[in-house]
Amino acid sequence: MSGQAATRVRTLIVVLGDQLDRSHALIDRLDPGRDCVFMAEVREESTHVWSHRARIVLFLSAMRHFRDELQARGIDVRYLELDRHGHASLGAALGSVLDDCKPQSVAMLQAGDYRVQQAISQTVSSRGLPLDIEPDPHFLIDSREFESWLGTRSQPRMEHFYRFMRKRNGILMQDDRPLGGAWNFDRDNRRSFGKQGPPGAPAALSFAPDATTRQVIRLVRREFPDHPGELDGFDWPVTPRQADELLQDFMAHRLSLFGPYQDAMWCNEPFLYHSLLSASLNLKLLDPRAVLRMAVQALQEGAAPLSGVEGFIRQILGWREYVRGIYQAKMPAYADMNALAADRELPAFFWTGATDMACLREALEQTLRFGYAHHIQRLMVTGLYCLLLGVTPRKVHEWYLAVYVDAVEWVELPNTLGMSQYADGGYLASKPYVATGKYIQRMSNYCAGCRYDPAQASGEDACPFTTLYWDFLARHRQRFARHPRTALQWRNLDRLGCTQLKAIRTQADVLRNACTG
Ligand code: FAD
Ligand code: SF4
Repeated sequence: MSGQAATRVRTLIVVLGDQLDRSHALIDRLDPGRDCVFMAEVREESTHVWSHRARIVLFLSAMRHFRDELQARGIDVRYLELDRHGHASLGAALGSVLDDCKPQSVAMLQAGDYRVQQAISQTVSSRGLPLDIEPDPHFLIDSREFESWLGTRSQPRMEHFYRFMRKRNGILMQDDRPLGGAWNFDRDNRRSFGKQGPPGAPAALSFAPDATTRQVIRLVRREFPDHPGELDGFDWPVTPRQADELLQDFMAHRLSLFGPYQDAMWCNEPFLYHSLLSASLNLKLLDPRAVLRMAVQALQEGAAPLSGVEGFIRQILGWREYVRGIYQAKMPAYADMNALAADRELPAFFWTGATDMACLREALEQTLRFGYAHHIQRLMVTGLYCLLLGVTPRKVHEWYLAVYVDAVEWVELPNTLGMSQYADGGYLASKPYVATGKYIQRMSNYCAGCRYDPAQASGEDACPFTTLYWDFLARHRQRFARHPRTALQWRNLDRLGCTQLKAIRTQADVLRNACTG
């Protein structure tokens, strides 16, 4: 504890590691003479999944920078550092501070993570204290409003929600019609690079660790020596100022290429034209409204085309708010869903990158190095492989929650269970995102350097994605055969013929049995 004597306080404001908003609604209203802030670094938050070390450093360093700023403003912060107190969990840490300072009440912004909210609510209630939970104003739509949008929809499509949000916020609208006459410019936004590779653009900004971050890096090396992930090149933004610099840099140099190439992949190009803003947004170092404003401004100034700006805004205003709404509405049951009854172990090479499949090796190695992979790598390389293989969704979820610096459960879980693994049975995505290795070949240059052939479904050179794709269709035919947008897939499956399908399915069994975790 930062040296304060036990005093009776009026309100203890709980601030979580992903609530580092400098305009935090409750902190802005606090009375420094009577209220104080509680923050804690606890082991459980880094170990309930086997966290990437860069993810741990990012959270702890950003929290310490936030604490230092609050203290410089004269705010009393009861901050528990990981190496100076012995509390394993957030509940235990909070309990000790409640017992020490005996506040009259506790207040917080709604936690993003269901598990964390439960732990705090239980601890506060066990002390017989009132807990005031306010909606987190970081989001453009709060949970109650989202639920009213959700209503009784059995298949709440993101596209409908996104249009609702465009209209509601007046973003890219001309009167009540979408700017440019269309809601969606996907056709312009799905390009691959061709033989010449990515057109050049300046690399994203890099933020050299300051003294606080260097101290945290030493701490994490010491406390979590066996955790996955590299720390040598750690350069993620840890303050709002750095996050804002990254945002400006993206708008100036990469937004114009983001749209057309957002689904493209290329060897040794982990970041391409992506914004790298997810971690800053999720820790609340950045306000999504500022991001949206700057994207619209880039369009107005002619710095980026409508198609690309729309594609980017769709991610922030659409997907990000949508998955958060689904998470808040459907937890805790959502985490246990497993519609396809998948029961395999996660392949052990997901923790090392040691595989001869070039696409997976590339995505996994950069994940372990930077704690980052872009959306299509997550969805159509690592996620696709787990789906085709039949890995238990919870194990897939735990891996994604562990290895990305931007991983927080409210955004990770619906993306993994719903979008990527179809574990919610089509609630979030209308059909499973499945493809053969030919999709990866079309969108990247990975296959050129791979020992497998994406066109082969069986035999020694067969691409495991292609083998497992046909096997997946055959295994789940009953469930998906009547889906209106999959007719072509079934016709192609039928063209394979019995002998070839038998060979494919035998090979798929071998692949599955080789991955025993
Ligand atoms: P960009 O490609 O530049 O996109 C801009 C921003 O849009 C992102 O920063 C992010 O805030 C938002 N965004 C884009 N796609 C999504 C999406 N599908 N859902 C929500 N927001 C989106 N995102 C996370 O922030 N945390 C996670 O833990 C996470 N886990 C994922 C797991 C799986 C299996 C999949 C398929 C996706 C996951 N995503 C997650 C969504 C997306 O992949 C990341 O937001 C994105 O790759 C982050 O990189 P970026 O900031 O460069 O994004
Ligand atoms: Fe991946 Fe298959 Fe291409 Fe190899 S051939 S890179 S395994 S898609």
